[in-house]
Amino acid sequence: MVRLFTSLADVYGIGPRFLSRFRKLNIATVADLIRHFPSRYEDFSVISPIADATPGQTVTIIGEIIKTNLRRSWRKKMMIVEAQVADQSGMIKAVWFNQPYIKNTLTTGATFNFSGKVGTYAGENVITNPLFEAAGRSDGTKHTARLVPIYPETKGMTSKGVRFVIKPILANLEEISEFIPYEALDENGLLEINEAVRAIHFPDTMEEAEAARRRFAWQELFLLAIANLRRKAELIRKRALPIPKNEAILTAAIKKLPFVLTGSQKKCLDQILDDLSRPAPMNRLLQGDVGSGKTAVAALAAINAAGSGYQTAFMAPTEVLARQHYTTLTRMFGEVGVKVGLMTGGGWGRIFWERGLESEIKTAEMRKLIAEGKIGIAVGTHALIYGDSPFHKLGLTVIDEQHRFGVAQRAMLVSRGGTVPHFLSMSATPIPRTLTLTVFGDLDLSVITEMPAGRKPVVTKIVAPEKRMEAYQFIRQEVKAGRQIFVICPRIEQEAENNAGALGQQELFKLELKSVTAEFEKLSRQIFPDLRVMMLHGKMKVKEKVEAMDTFAKGKADILVATSVVEVGVDVPNATIMMIESAERFGLAQLYQFRGRVGRGEHASYCLLFTDAKGENVQQRLQALTTAKNGFELAEMDLKMRGPGQFLGTRQTGMPDTAMRSLQNLSLIGTARTAAEAVLKEDPSLTKHSDLKKQAEEMVGRIHNE
Ligand code: ADP
Ligand code: MG
Repeated sequence: MVRLFTSLADVYGIGPRFLSRFRKLNIATVADLIRHFPSRYEDFSVISPIADATPGQTVTIIGEIIKTNLRRSWRKKMMIVEAQVADQSGMIKAVWFNQPYIKNTLTTGATFNFSGKVGTYAGENVITNPLFEAAGRSDGTKHTARLVPIYPETKGMTSKGVRFVIKPILANLEEISEFIPYEALDENGLLEINEAVRAIHFPDTMEEAEAARRRFAWQELFLLAIANLRRKAELIRKRALPIPKNEAILTAAIKKLPFVLTGSQKKCLDQILDDLSRPAPMNRLLQGDVGSGKTAVAALAAINAAGSGYQTAFMAPTEVLARQHYTTLTRMFGEVGVKVGLMTGGGWGRIFWERGLESEIKTAEMRKLIAEGKIGIAVGTHALIYGDSPFHKLGLTVIDEQHRFGVAQRAMLVSRGGTVPHFLSMSATPIPRTLTLTVFGDLDLSVITEMPAGRKPVVTKIVAPEKRMEAYQFIRQEVKAGRQIFVICPRIEQEAENNAGALGQQELFKLELKSVTAEFEKLSRQIFPDLRVMMLHGKMKVKEKVEAMDTFAKGKADILVATSVVEVGVDVPNATIMMIESAERFGLAQLYQFRGRVGRGEHASYCLLFTDAKGENVQQRLQALTTAKNGFELAEMDLKMRGPGQFLGTRQTGMPDTAMRSLQNLSLIGTARTAAEAVLKEDPSLTKHSDLKKQAEEMVGRIHNE
């Protein structure tokens, strides 16, 4: 009997060649191998007498080898193996190209199954490159005469190889214990695990294969829900410092705002303040379209905390954004008496003591002041927290535009001295409900659904190559009228060139895309030599980036050419055109975010999507951007069109691939969550479900490690 956790090296019949190929696929044990699912099936279940096999048909024939022959084709230098195969009804020729070794296995006089597609050659029926195996095996067939699993063929491991190894293992596998409660299987019509394992690899019918797939997809979502719900429950049991609402400072701060908060902003702020006042840590995601005013909400929460004597770590993904937040906090709320520190790279920071009094300070000095509790709000990049900044009384952690939600945020919630700081993350990526229920299932959500008054819709146009000059003309007009332009390019040149040796077709293609540097050269020298063009990309030094952003924000440049890393939160109300090169390379949600950079001021704004791609798909996808009513609608579309892996990026969520794929199965998400809730309600610590507990913990491990 083969056990699940047996190493493949200890399984009889697997040679070193297979072992090393499996190792490359991260398959080391029987359990790993069983989780390596087929991507599709080839239907060879129709068995036909040779005489009845018709061209175009995919069949299995069973016949005796009459004679074989190896020859070289005369036109192309190709090795061809031919075999005459006969049954009682007739004869057919089987042909294989470029696999000369096959001849040796085709013993004359032996009977084989041949599965493949029937064709014709020189007026005769032939079966080309058929899969074959000895006929009449008592243990059933692997490659022929049935639904045959096709595995993702990577790293030198063929489907045939996987079938060869996995079939005998399945036949001798120990019984796997079912970890999904039987009631849940029943209620949701799911296959039991042993049945499902067999059916996903060697199904008798397509229905059975589908049922197996459904069970595993459901399983992932169920485990994910269990993991999230347990995490949430665990967090509720943790202690946090309750931060009372401080009416006086809030009223003062809100009065200082140069605008009136939208109803939506107020509602979100209330939800946050309510959470903060509790002794259990908040774990909340503040969502809202680009420009919806998330910063003000988070800033008010931080000011409230400061007013009540608690510190806030206010983090941004980049230094440019950190500076912007510092400016917002000090400009808008400079009068309310909160001391704000900005931690920047290079060993220096900046402290706002009060209106009119700011000083440069060494980072080390800043850390000391933070530790003594002299700084109310510490603003910086993530290094601020990851670097061991000791806070005197850290009450709240705010993270802005954090795309790697999953991993980072969980790491952030480590407790300090027995309590966990309240946690608020902000994101402009509209996350579809399906994902918030699953991937982010342990988060509470606040959504800003309203845009500040006076925002104008951005006119969005797809620009075909022949309209490029016209578009440039339009850009020139806007600049002449005093406006500013963003130009976004997919990637920078250097990166691809460095990797040029290792590039596949896909990557080579990317090489041809507009690069920032090339685009910058073109725009600044040829197209707009008379305008002030600047460049911003990820490879620049922080200082250069800050300077570039600053110059642009102050209106001292007309055009900013940037990569997609363009500081996602930058706020330049005078910019009215967002022009995007090779727009088809971006996800809809991302394009939507870029577009949100404009349309913030009083002037009409435009988003120009440049694309050379002609495909109907591309046009349709981009067209969605012109019709969708909001970011959520687009995000759902994006999710459907590209799948969750592409949508969020597997690495960004830290989710295992299999779980990501399951997310595509929207109908399963709800039932999995309901079942998880039911199990945990009855057995919160899963003491009666130890296998399930183990599996859920393993899922958490996979989330953190992949
Ligand atoms: P995001 O949600 O993308 O982070 P920001 O917080 O950067 O948006 O806000 C975008 C701009 O809108 C800023 O200039 C901010 O001052 C302004 N703003 C925020 N709230 C309001 C409001 N209620 N009314 C008018 N303008 C606002
Ligand atoms: Mg922002």
